[in-house]
Amino acid sequence: MKQFKPIPSNFVLAPTLARRILQVREFRNMTVLDLASLSNFPIRRIEELESGLETWLSSTDRQRLAKALSVEPSLLKEVEHRAHETAPIPESKMLDAATAEQLSIDILDSVENLKCPDCSAPLTTTVVDGLDMDGHPFQFAKAFCVKCPYVLRI
Ligand SMILES: [Zn+2]
Repeated sequence: MKQFKPIPSNFVLAPTLARRILQVREFRNMTVLDLASLSNFPIRRIEELESGLETWLSSTDRQRLAKALSVEPSLLKEVEHRAHETAPIPESKMLDAATAEQLSIDILDSVENLKCPDCSAPLTTTVVDGLDMDGHPFQFAKAFCVKCPYVLRI
């Protein structure tokens, strides 16, 4: 078994999990393959971790990886992020009144190829004939996205 030197105290550690794994691996003179076989992770998993696709480790995985890198698990844990912390789901415009009003006007004006305000996929639109509170006929617009949960709410 190879004996590792501790990381020098003046060594500036990278601020993200991806870069820190890469940094320590290179410091240990290990290839991705070395780290994969030492930690018993698939090579692809190491690549995903180092490219930032995976930003959080389970406690078992963290221990295996830390052991393979010969570092304290806390050194990895302190730069981990749950996916939703780093990549929040964009806020939907579904409840945005101004967006809904403009969309409604466009639909009633027979504007074609309207796009979803949330994901830009095509919208399925219809004009519905209705009666207002006084019994007068009027038209209102309906729309929903073919891809995401967006629906027009007026
Ligand atoms: Zn959409």
